[in-house]
Amino acid sequence: MTIDGQAVQTTGTFGVVNPATGEVAEQAPDASREQLDQAMAAAAAALPEWRRDEPARRKALQAAADLMFARSEEIGRILTLEQGKPLGDATMEVIGAGVWLKYFADLELPREVIQDDDAAFVEVVRRPMGVVAAITPWNYPLLLAIWKLAPALLAGNTMVLKPSPFTPLSSLKLGEVLREVLPPGVLNVVTGGDGLGAWMTSHDVPRKISFTGSVATGKRVAAAAAPDLKRVTLELGGNDPAILLDDADPAAVADKLFGAAFMNNGQVCSAIKRVYVPESLYGDVVEALAAKASAAKVGDGFAEGVQFGPVNNKPQYERVSELVADALAGGARAAAGGKPIDGPGYFFEPTILADISDGARIVDEEQFGPALPIVKYNDLEEAISRANGTHFGLSGSVWGTDAERASEVAARLECGTAWVNTHLALAPHQPFGGFKWSGVGVENGPWGLYGFTELQVVHRSKA
Ligand code: NAD
Repeated sequence: MTIDGQAVQTTGTFGVVNPATGEVAEQAPDASREQLDQAMAAAAAALPEWRRDEPARRKALQAAADLMFARSEEIGRILTLEQGKPLGDATMEVIGAGVWLKYFADLELPREVIQDDDAAFVEVVRRPMGVVAAITPWNYPLLLAIWKLAPALLAGNTMVLKPSPFTPLSSLKLGEVLREVLPPGVLNVVTGGDGLGAWMTSHDVPRKISFTGSVATGKRVAAAAAPDLKRVTLELGGNDPAILLDDADPAAVADKLFGAAFMNNGQVCSAIKRVYVPESLYGDVVEALAAKASAAKVGDGFAEGVQFGPVNNKPQYERVSELVADALAGGARAAAGGKPIDGPGYFFEPTILADISDGARIVDEEQFGPALPIVKYNDLEEAISRANGTHFGLSGSVWGTDAERASEVAARLECGTAWVNTHLALAPHQPFGGFKWSGVGVENGPWGLYGFTELQVVHRSKA
């Protein structure tokens, strides 16, 4: 682990499974309570100097970005081993981390003068919050850590980062690599089980918890933060709808729809998780998506030409298997796939489910895996209300040849990002977050940066 700029060993360890084999590939350190205290103390001790020197922070983030670009393949290999995604995608994730670091390194920390007259000079400035506890999931372990680290550090905070126990290795490597460019204590990386996360959220040092993960855990995090009034940003689950309008061209949109549903093997918070299609287009859309799913090459992320790796972990693999089996038992039709792939590892056939409707678990719940239900509709108003009729509200998309009309429908989606004729188009300057149970606060853009700051009014009397 990385604590106070040093490599730290633990007495306990836990196994990290390669999801392509189902076998333990490495041991990861299991942090003790004392080690977490040390990490928090180191982050607190590093604060005064770090928050004082903004140019040094920008320089460090630039250098961190360069390290991500230079070492993308090395870190990408670790990601493929523990996460399962194809090596090309893993390498791109590390490069993406560099892109995000570069964006934040240049982002302005605004100071606004709101009064300057005979009575007073009044400025509104953004101050760091203190120590940030960052907790991340297993789908994009590296990128999502950087979404927190880059703005938090730029704003002058210090951090203790805890990755998911399913994917600790890439974050451990991140801590090691960034020792080269960050002063001791500014970034501490600890690993362990879910209990370590709970220790962090109830620890008295952090002033802010930045959490990405499931709705259920997000609620626990919010409850743990409340007694100490810690600030929280929660990036939680989604069940993104894509609504096709009757003027959509199935052949033209199939590629993008498929890509946005199956990216990272469907393990993306804002992947398309259900598609609403008018009856007139239904057969064509199902056929086009099923053709793509059937043609997809699934395999070990280290093998050449593989499009999708395994599901990341056994519980998730079992959940996807269960949701698909439940849909089929309820009368849905597997237009492609429909079952686990025989052999070792957590491989599942890319699956398109037709003749299914709201009420089926895989439509109502977040599947977070390579299985997509296609739901027929007759009345657009009803499709919009079904799309919105959920506790989730992360993102959604509307597809049609008349982009104006599609935009009007998209404006009625109750979610943090409403896409038109695209989905999953994420970028560093675009705030990302969810309505309803999909989250609290946003990441990215200046708005994401502000989430790591407190507003301070500096009022200088002239009278
Ligand atoms: P999870 O909630 O099980 O775990 C997330 C993290 O929380 C892990 O590091 C885990 O160890 C930790 N944790 C578990 N219990 C905790 C507790 N009581 N207190 C503090 N930390 C605790 O989620 P997951 O299965 O790793 O990730 C998948 C979920 O994440 C999906 O629902 C997905 O939609 C969501 N997600 C959301 C976004 C987003 O930006 N909105 C991005 C990626 C993933």
